[in-house]
Amino acid sequence: MNTFDAVMICEGVEDATQEELIAAWQSLIDDGTVWTLQGSFGRQAKAMIEAGVCYSAQDTVHDSGMVYRSECCGASPHEASPDVGSDNLAGICGQCLDGTGFELGEEE
Ligand SMILES: [Zn+2]
Repeated sequence: MNTFDAVMICEGVEDATQEELIAAWQSLIDDGTVWTLQGSFGRQAKAMIEAGVCYSAQDTVHDSGMVYRSECCGASPHEASPDVGSDNLAGICGQCLDGTGFELGEEE
């Protein structure tokens, strides 16, 4: 599915079955497009990930074996958090579901 078709389906412009709708959201989550679209897309994607309908494989462990911890409460990045990585220590807190910075710490 290309990005344009996926966006059309997610916006409800294009008719789709439930499976196609989920696949459309998943493809936008997979390539990160969903986080660059208007805010309602990101919120909807987050809600679908929380509901377990869609998933995002967020890497919470750094190459060094240290884990990412949010600055607000020390939680792992939320699975919907976009690209938390060694050169971008910012994302969504898995506890507060809010934007935050991250630091590397020992695994507990
Ligand atoms: Zn937090």
